[in-house]
Amino acid sequence: MKNVVDSVLTIAPANTRGSVSASEESTIRPRNQTIKASGRFSSFAGMILPLCLGFYQILVVDEARAKDADKTAVIRPTNGNEGEKTAIARPTITATSINGSDEPGSLDGRVEVPRPSERALSYYRSGNALWILGRILGVLIPCAIAFSGVSARLRIIATRIGRFPIGEIIVYLVLYVVILSILDLPLDYYAGYVREHSYGLTRQTFAKWASDQSIGAAITVVVFALFGWVPFWLMRRSPHRWWLYAGLVAIPFYAATILVEPIWIAPLFNTFRPMRDKALETKILALASEAGIEGSRVFEVEKSVDTNKVNAYVTGIGATKRIVLWDTLLKRLDDREILFVMSHEMGHYVLHHMFYILAAISSGTFVILFLLDCSLKAIYRRCGGALGLRSPLDVAATPIIAALLTVFNLLGAPIWNVFSRSIEHEADRFAIEITRDNHAGATAFVKLQSENLGNPRPGPLYKFWRSSHPPIGERIDFCQDYRPWENGEPLVYKTYFRERSDK
Ligand SMILES: [Zn+2]
Repeated sequence: MKNVVDSVLTIAPANTRGSVSASEESTIRPRNQTIKASGRFSSFAGMILPLCLGFYQILVVDEARAKDADKTAVIRPTNGNEGEKTAIARPTITATSINGSDEPGSLDGRVEVPRPSERALSYYRSGNALWILGRILGVLIPCAIAFSGVSARLRIIATRIGRFPIGEIIVYLVLYVVILSILDLPLDYYAGYVREHSYGLTRQTFAKWASDQSIGAAITVVVFALFGWVPFWLMRRSPHRWWLYAGLVAIPFYAATILVEPIWIAPLFNTFRPMRDKALETKILALASEAGIEGSRVFEVEKSVDTNKVNAYVTGIGATKRIVLWDTLLKRLDDREILFVMSHEMGHYVLHHMFYILAAISSGTFVILFLLDCSLKAIYRRCGGALGLRSPLDVAATPIIAALLTVFNLLGAPIWNVFSRSIEHEADRFAIEITRDNHAGATAFVKLQSENLGNPRPGPLYKFWRSSHPPIGERIDFCQDYRPWENGEPLVYKTYFRERSDK
């Protein structure tokens, strides 16, 4: 989910030219201004680099702690509920990974949280390094484009080609997206292809990777061309309140994105087909019916061409309502575990988590856009000339906006993570209550961890900045310990369930 959120936030808030004294500054940046700008750029880099290195050290130290975290395996017999459902999983647009084939834990004993392997710890450590590098580059690359004068030159080219104001903005944004995609390519290739292969997390061919990259880039270009000009246009119309109007416009945009992505975008990358295991499909539909989700269709999607990770989700509204399972999930989990995963996803659906997410993203967007407005005006006052900006909200400030968004997203991540972890926890609770198959939930999570090279007990700093889901170790423990029905306590989500004769 967070990936989607990130990309949505990256797309939506744009800036624009603004009002304020549009332009005493010349469009073309004189050479001495370039030098001055480079100086500012260096001192900025000098500040941010040590900071990021510090983060890295702390995050890596967390990893050492994880190594010892899980030796304890408490033994406690399960009350053998061999029911037929179980679940876990990840949120609709989020991607979880798994693989799995070992049968973790004994059938009825308490499931052990496995110690992470050396390979898993290496994956964790290098993942932290990549995460930090991504944040650094997310600031440095756009700043380099802005302070080198490239952005101002792009705007001049865009003005020539675009001819009219909105055309100029669209041409600029398309050029910018293309350039940024090319600059990002080496890291994307390493993180998305080389690294995943080296850890055995995928068997994706290079052709498929390249095809997915191209489709993704094309979609981004189209989205920016169709919608990217809107905030800039609003800035010109209302330099003081554009951020408010842009936030309002963003809400239906987000809603449409959430609705359209699984139905029209996802099939561009992978093949969807009706579920082949009809017996399992029947069980899933029965579970959906018990959860109050009627009239769904079940699809399986061929994700094994891309990844060994697993996922499933429930999405759509009305006629588009659908339950989707990755084929990797079907191959690696048994039926009870799959049903547990599905009931977690159904929990998201039934508890209307999508609407909470939409509300959270929309609220965050207003805050971010307001901060953008203030920041852009301050930056324009200090170095608008060096950047070749005609106004604080000039389209040539797009790289500055991108860098600011990276920083704002980083600062907002801990808040988002707390929110996201809480709804994930509630979806787990929903799954446990409806299935009462604590054991299958725990073993499903163990498979997620081992096959996904997960770290079950990451350190607090990792959890603070990066964990959109509760750590797997906590989820495994919760799956085994949460049994309110055994103590005669009420179920939190009982009102959502249809009555079953066997419960
Ligand atoms: Zn989830």
